[in-house]
Amino acid sequence: MPSWSTVRDDFPILHQQVHGKPLVYLDNAATTQKPRSVIDALVHYYERDNANVHRGLHALSTRATDAYEGARARIARFLNAADPAEIIFTRGTTESVNVVARSLAHVLKPGDVILSTEMEHHSNLVPWQQLARATGAKLRFVPIVGADAEGGLDLAALDRLLTPEVKVFAFTHLSNTLGTINPIAELCARARAIGALTVIDAAQSGGHAPLDVRALGCDYLVLSGHKMCGPTGIGVLYGKRELLDRLTPTETGGGMVVTVHYEDATWKPSPERFEAGTPNIAGAIGLAAACDYLDALGRDAIARHDHELGRLAYEKLAELPGIRLIGPRDGRSGVVSFAFEGVHAHDVVTFADEDGIALRGGHHCNQPLMRKLGLTSTTRASFYLYNTPEEIDALVASLRKILKFFG
Ligand code: PLP
Repeated sequence: MPSWSTVRDDFPILHQQVHGKPLVYLDNAATTQKPRSVIDALVHYYERDNANVHRGLHALSTRATDAYEGARARIARFLNAADPAEIIFTRGTTESVNVVARSLAHVLKPGDVILSTEMEHHSNLVPWQQLARATGAKLRFVPIVGADAEGGLDLAALDRLLTPEVKVFAFTHLSNTLGTINPIAELCARARAIGALTVIDAAQSGGHAPLDVRALGCDYLVLSGHKMCGPTGIGVLYGKRELLDRLTPTETGGGMVVTVHYEDATWKPSPERFEAGTPNIAGAIGLAAACDYLDALGRDAIARHDHELGRLAYEKLAELPGIRLIGPRDGRSGVVSFAFEGVHAHDVVTFADEDGIALRGGHHCNQPLMRKLGLTSTTRASFYLYNTPEEIDALVASLRKILKFFG
């Protein structure tokens, strides 16, 4: 069991004051902080090994290539992928979903159905809208249950929705607004039974819970490095090898081709065929260091820590007058959203900032979900491995002050 209080020592950024108060960083669903080991891996790469990958025969290029491909193998292990070639480096979840959606444009036809859910982030929604528009496929959504979505997805509706026309089922593992944890193994199994491809948005769960793509049997899984202690600008598209090699690349250019003539070119197999141009080498190396860091702590232990903080925050926030807590009461993650009657989320976030507390207010890239909940915005506190119960007390105390001010 890690010592959660000493974990904070690994994160240099946490040891600062904001507006004269100790920083309480509760905006982890937006991005997480980076441990010293990840920062060191980036510095080490730029100080010693920086060179372009794959194309050089000199020592630095060989080292950079080994480190970059080593990072791919490390992330394959992190996700229990069968082969490093199943790991494609992207800029993040958004780009990963776009790559899958655009490359399926040649596969889907009018009358096909793309199934998603009512709780998706815009990044796992708008690319599917575009695909539907381009192919004539229809979009359908698994509903959420309960006025405050306390029941999560309506799994009973799946029987009706998972028809043979469904070719793709794209869903989030962990909702960035509701804090719901979806039963992804069950969703994959039910989609597989009708032959639909599955795409898991693991942006919020990548560094928060164990993920085993082979046990899940998913076809694609996407995540962002910056939400799991890694650098910004690096993400992952996992895809089953046989599927990736059939997909048409969405970006073309150097690095992804075998033979080029003036009029034509042929593609390399996965993963190179999806990584045109110079990749984010340092980002991939930093992400591998993040995987090492998270696995040393243990992702089961991180999940338990997150869930405990989420539960505690929900319980303590529920005591505040006029609060509306969104998402499930039980079995929730470390993402906790709430709204106060008559106090805008932006005011809450601005006032909390005066107390050194970093929150997020807005629609969280979930506009359709907000509309469904009858809200325009919520305030969101999201916890991670370096957060403590004392920080929840600081949040609650700050919110009490804010309510008094607006009361
Ligand atoms: N999906 C979910 C559930 C998210 O929470 C986010 C970011 O907040 C994204 C997708 C998009 O991730 P990125 O901006 O790193 O591409």
